[in-house]
Amino acid sequence: MKLDCPISQFRVAADKSVKLKKTATKIDPLYTSDQDYESKLANYREEIAHWQSVLFAGQQQSLLLIFQGMDSAGKGGAIRHVMSGINPQGCQVHSFGRPSEEELAHDYLWRCLVRLPRRGMIGIFDRSYYEEVLVVRVKPEVLAGQSLPTSLVQQKNFWKDRYNDIRHHESYLHRNGTKIVKFFLHLSADEQRKRLLARIDDPGKNWKFRLGDLDCRSHWAGFQKAYQECLEQTSTAESPWYIVPADDKRNARLVVSQVILQTMQKMDLKFPTASSGLVQDLATARKLLQDEAAAH
Ligand code: ATP
Repeated sequence: MKLDCPISQFRVAADKSVKLKKTATKIDPLYTSDQDYESKLANYREEIAHWQSVLFAGQQQSLLLIFQGMDSAGKGGAIRHVMSGINPQGCQVHSFGRPSEEELAHDYLWRCLVRLPRRGMIGIFDRSYYEEVLVVRVKPEVLAGQSLPTSLVQQKNFWKDRYNDIRHHESYLHRNGTKIVKFFLHLSADEQRKRLLARIDDPGKNWKFRLGDLDCRSHWAGFQKAYQECLEQTSTAESPWYIVPADDKRNARLVVSQVILQTMQKMDLKFPTASSGLVQDLATARKLLQDEAAAH
């Protein structure tokens, strides 16, 4: 299937510097009308669903999709719209909010490790261990709540070491058959204000509003800086980050779909070939069923 735009423009090249201020949060629409958007998304979903069935049948590789972004960036909507066509048995979504007491009693990767996708599955993380170099970095009180030994927290390379840990963890997963793709939904502060106001003004959206969202907004520059460094330090050829312009939710969903589709197309997925034993079993079964039909 032909893609609507070269998605490599959104990929963060390994070891390249990132300037979020200069990176677009809005691009020309990839659709010409509502109908065009719906039909493009439907086509992508259909193709993704096809590759998901091949991934599931193969039971060898898995795909982990990580979504990060400021509040109201559209993570949930992107996940819902892009993945809605695929077989729910082959896909699991996990959201990572503030860690529970039990989660805080373990190392920071633990809660995500136990939710990694099994072979054959697509795993979707709505937020992830990346929060450990984002909110935990931006808000010192969050780090203080992690009960780490002071001598470790005071290490000069504390954050650098976290990036290293994450890179190693992801290359380990890569060598175990898990393909990881990471999306940063890049939203402007103006668009976030509009979306938060809509959550306040529209009774149907009130449930989405959290006062804490304003607190994170008040640290906007700190978050952008933390995201920037995180993208620079943890985008690799094997497990790349994509910066998705997110001010237009529909465009963002089309970009995300295309990245997922292209990733799956490159995973060398194939239906397993039948073993000679299975070929024999199939022939036997066919004969039994045909004989049964002939007997009626
Ligand atoms: P959304 O993810 O769309 O904002 P939400 O606000 O309903 O959904 P919550 O369950 O409230 O989701 O969790 C999101 C909040 O949890 C975010 O503010 C995020 O920064 C915070 N969070 C995620 N991981 C951690 C972490 N490891 N330590 C502290 N806070 C975290």
